[in-house]
Amino acid sequence: MFDLEQLIRPHLRSIQRYSSARDEFFGEASVYLDANESPFANRLNRYPDGNQRELCKVGSTWLGLDPKQLLFVNGSDEGIDLLIRAFAEPGQDRILISSPTYGMYKVWAEVSGVGVVDLPLKEDFELDGEQLAQRNDNRDKLLFICSPNNPSGNSFPRSEILSIVRNFSGLVVVDEAYIDFASSPSLLVDLANCPNLVILRTFSKAWGFAGLRVGMVIASPSIIEVLRRIKPPYNIGTPAQDKIISALSCAQQLAQVKTNVELLKAERARLGQAIGGLPSVVRVFPSQGNFLLVRTSDSKRIYECLLARGIVVRDRSNQTGCSGCLRVSVGTPDENDILLSCWRSCV
Ligand code: PMP
Repeated sequence: MFDLEQLIRPHLRSIQRYSSARDEFFGEASVYLDANESPFANRLNRYPDGNQRELCKVGSTWLGLDPKQLLFVNGSDEGIDLLIRAFAEPGQDRILISSPTYGMYKVWAEVSGVGVVDLPLKEDFELDGEQLAQRNDNRDKLLFICSPNNPSGNSFPRSEILSIVRNFSGLVVVDEAYIDFASSPSLLVDLANCPNLVILRTFSKAWGFAGLRVGMVIASPSIIEVLRRIKPPYNIGTPAQDKIISALSCAQQLAQVKTNVELLKAERARLGQAIGGLPSVVRVFPSQGNFLLVRTSDSKRIYECLLARGIVVRDRSNQTGCSGCLRVSVGTPDENDILLSCWRSCV
């Protein structure tokens, strides 16, 4: 049923990727005059490794995968764009999303002139499995499932995602941006049995490197190879590559990320409980992410009131199924205390 070769946009099936100077020569030389770089050493005068060899080696060891299953991208946002550009034909094909969800799936599709079919989540923010199962249109090339989902915060059961993956003839992209904060398992272990499964990860959340712009697309080597063909040759700069390599190789840093995640999870519970008791709060949705979705009776007023006190949260009240909702990222204990005391004063 799933045929990768058929899924690739026809004009990309035989496209030659750009061959950079360092693709043609790989090794150690004493004089580099092949890439029109500046010869004056300043640590950044050479191009980064566009093939991300060391990065993929370290990343794959960390995840227990084959390096060929990984592509590092300029934030997982770049991964979303590459997937759409590789597999969805403008003016013809479509992606499927279930709103409310992360906004960039739709934006990148629109930028590419690719259609977007929205099969909204049910009222409890669960996937509408029946609607998904009923679709049988070979123009549906990519299905995006964000789990844990932004902004609702819930994860979808692994068994449910897997049954969707097995029934879908295109690629199912599971965005695991918030997986480190979740008690639900990652689908990494399922890659071996699901040739049409793609997983997105980011270093912007639990790892604390939003400013670096590094994410990962994780899939079968043949899917990754297609994306490598169309990616910008040097999409991850040297400082970002070095930073991720050293972070993943450093036991202390790995332990620090774990500690930070545990603290944020504890704060998420504390904050959720406390926000639940605040004026105008109707409901705090359970969250598996580093944020809380809060339904209020007057989101505009609370948003403005918090803003006037120097606190910015995200107004999600115009998103499908999110009327009256604010999304609040979990901050440090001090920041969370400030939020709570300001919110209390917003009566
Ligand atoms: N996926 C989800 C679900 C997100 O919420 C975000 C950013 N908020 C991203 C992807 C993009 O992350 P990155 O910084 O890796 O581009």
